[in-house]
Amino acid sequence: MTREYAGAMAEPTIFERIVAREIPAEIVLEDDEIIAFADIAPKAELHVLVVPKTARYRDVVELAAGDPDLLAAMVRAAKAIALERADGDFRLVFNTGELAGQTVFHVHAHVLAGADLTEESL
Ligand code: 5GP
Repeated sequence: MTREYAGAMAEPTIFERIVAREIPAEIVLEDDEIIAFADIAPKAELHVLVVPKTARYRDVVELAAGDPDLLAAMVRAAKAIALERADGDFRLVFNTGELAGQTVFHVHAHVLAGADLTEESL
């Protein structure tokens, strides 16, 4: 069994509160499955978070096991955002676990793009 959380049983994360419009965000893309919005503390010229709306998986490992099509939809969304808002190239980051810097335990992809990222360390 994957560790998909029943929404009613878990405290809503900050991202679910953004989906519910309880917290404002600069939304750049939204459909039935996915919402994408500007990170509040950008680490690149373009820094957008891509978040699944429909299911709550803790991290990308659980999402890949539980709903690979939704993971693929997140990657497509990242490409569309990079094409629309930058030159089409982008870095996709999934912090996975506290020691890797994950602070929000609702899977999300960081889309980093804009200025040349080749000098930046991972
Ligand atoms: P993590 O550290 O879990 O990989 O990424 C969480 C991200 O969420 C961080 O980059 C952080 O800046 C962003 N973040 C945290 N709170 C908010 C918020 O209220 N609004 C927005 N737009 N981003 C947030």
